Amino acid sequence: MALRGQGDPARRPDGGVLRMTADVIDGRRVADTVRNETARRAAAFRERTGRAPGLATVLVGEDPASRVYVANKRRSAAAVGIADFHRHLDEASSRVEVAAVLAELADDPDVSGILLQLPLPGGIDPSDLIELIPVAKDVDGLTTASQGLLARNRPGLRPCTPSGVIRLLQDAEVPLAGAEAVVVGRSELVGRPMAQLLLQEDATVTMAHSRTRNLAEVTRRADVLIAAAGVPGLIGSEHVKAGATVVDVGIHRGESGLVGDVRADDVRQVARRLTPVPGGVGPMTIAMLLANTVTAAEAQHQALNRVGGEGQ
Ligand code: NAD
Repeated sequence: MALRGQGDPARRPDGGVLRMTADVIDGRRVADTVRNETARRAAAFRERTGRAPGLATVLVGEDPASRVYVANKRRSAAAVGIADFHRHLDEASSRVEVAAVLAELADDPDVSGILLQLPLPGGIDPSDLIELIPVAKDVDGLTTASQGLLARNRPGLRPCTPSGVIRLLQDAEVPLAGAEAVVVGRSELVGRPMAQLLLQEDATVTMAHSRTRNLAEVTRRADVLIAAAGVPGLIGSEHVKAGATVVDVGIHRGESGLVGDVRADDVRQVARRLTPVPGGVGPMTIAMLLANTVTAAEAQHQALNRVGGEGQ
């Protein structure tokens, strides 16, 4: 459930909407719940198989932000009982060297999930390298195979940030079936999979992007508005229908700390619910990565048993 604010938008006698304060959707609390569930599933997996689910994080070079992200992922994985298979490659590593490490991890039965931290140094295009991650170990959900499974609504590992958003919306009991959902942003990492996942929840989905004409007119249709444009403060109250749920995926380091794509002080006067930055979508991304790693371990174990069973 969301933390309670002032509740439903109050209507003025003339039909306008009185100022309200949106409920805050608390991503830290929901992420804690997902981490606790994941720790229980990891323990059950260990009991059943005699080994822990394993996450391989591959970091190339010394980019300070990437080092911090990978350290967070490794620490969070260890805290829920996931084994650490970290590989740190030199800044000057060639594509072939990175490919060799990915191939080795792909073959290692103790590695359940592989995460290639992006961006890669020296402008190396990661597209072909990502494809070396087997679909069963693609815990970021970024390979063409994983995206194909998502597009066809078949079981598979889903990208962490958009699946975290769905989990937040479900936890806050936001009705999605039949709802008008607008996603601002069409990246492969966030916007596109977000739209697919909302469609699978039976929302009526519109995707807006940098070429969309009259953005505010489009976003004001939304019962559920997802801001994932990567533009600080893009979304203001003029973009939001009264009573809408607004999810802010953007993260930007400003002078006064982290800010999102949404002008929160303005939008909270109109919206019914709002995710904060920080403490909204951000904590969900790592939590869903851990959940995906255990899901991958379970699916690989089941697949092995099926093959073993067929051979008997
Ligand atoms: P991206 O730059 O790859 O994609 C941005 C998308 O927004 C593009 O499709 C573009 O068409 C659209 N866009 C850009 N300007 C626009 C405008 N003025 N109006 C409408 N659409 C516009 O970015 P991304 O990787 O999808 O990330 C988006 C944001 O989400 C970034 O701020 C990123 O830091 C953040 N992010 C957060 C998390 C998290 O864990 N919270 C995870 C991933 C990304």
